[in-house]
Amino acid sequence: MRRLVEAAGIELKRSGKDWLGRCPCHADGEPSLVVTPAKNLWHCFGCSAAGGPIEWVMKLRVVSFRHAGELLKADPAAAAGSSEPVRRGTVRVLAAPVALDPVDQALLNQVIDYYHETFKTSISGEARPRPPRTD
Ligand SMILES: [Zn+2]
Repeated sequence: MRRLVEAAGIELKRSGKDWLGRCPCHADGEPSLVVTPAKNLWHCFGCSAAGGPIEWVMKLRVVSFRHAGELLKADPAAAAGSSEPVRRGTVRVLAAPVALDPVDQALLNQVIDYYHETFKTSISGEARPRPPRTD
């Protein structure tokens, strides 16, 4: 996961078991992107973008879930590389959210749930909602 982020030209600095860098998904003034290689997850505290390798490629290359998976399978380095021109080809970027067939959608939901659960447990203590104020 760390290599995938660095392949996009993002500098990462070690912070315990995590790596911090500037988020490519929003105008990030100071590093709010957290990469957890051990869990193959990333999360941005600035814009709330989060996920695993596939979500990373989806965000970075603006491609569909399926396309991101294919890019990763074909060539992980190129999938995340910012130097490589984005291949627009026959995949229509804007068509992605509605082009999912039911199988894709089910798979996507599973992946989202999985990452959501994994992430919730992996950051417990840091990003947990604060208890309601009593004042
Ligand atoms: Zn962000």
